[in-house]
Amino acid sequence: MTERRGLLVVIAGPSGVGKGTVHSRVRAALPDSVLSISSTTRAPRPGEQDGVHYDFVDRERFEALREQGALLEWAEYAGNLYGTPATPAREAIARGQVVVLDIELQGALQIKAHDPDALLVFLVPPSFEELERRLRGRGTEDDAAVERRLARAREELAAADQFDVQVVNDDLSRCVAEVLVEIERARSV
Ligand code: 5GP
Repeated sequence: MTERRGLLVVIAGPSGVGKGTVHSRVRAALPDSVLSISSTTRAPRPGEQDGVHYDFVDRERFEALREQGALLEWAEYAGNLYGTPATPAREAIARGQVVVLDIELQGALQIKAHDPDALLVFLVPPSFEELERRLRGRGTEDDAAVERRLARAREELAAADQFDVQVVNDDLSRCVAEVLVEIERARSV
């Protein structure tokens, strides 16, 4: 077996693009991938466990982590702070593993600015109409909330060209296969 290169991969995209499903499929296909557990000031949702889904911290602790330089990137999203702990990610990359980050746009752009070796993948919906249909179809939010998410999605789509690759999520299997090809390519350069 040849030695594999470690890699930091960000898979981002607008709300409703199917990011969660793509993330779990990509990780399942890569036995040497690890999921980074973010620190957040958001309260746990029912079923979320501390240290598994997130490292749940208060604002004071988050700010201390940020000031110590313990976060690779951080951002505020919907009134809460989120950040990627630096040490576990760096250690996994040094071991030759693939670290996959599920983070929002601002954090993704910070990673790109500080770590030119990272691979930034942007998931694109087949069309804006399809994104709108998916968001409304979820039925979990009222019209005003859907409108806010659509406005944010419009802004996020405008930043797509700052990513290394854009992958259209029209067909899940094809989309996942394309992301895996990009990861393979980035690891072998
Ligand atoms: P949620 O509260 O729904 O779990 O996450 C809200 C948003 O924060 C999602 O877009 C998610 O990808 C993003 N997010 C989660 N962890 C991090 C992180 O460590 N850094 C950044 N920048 N965004 C994060």
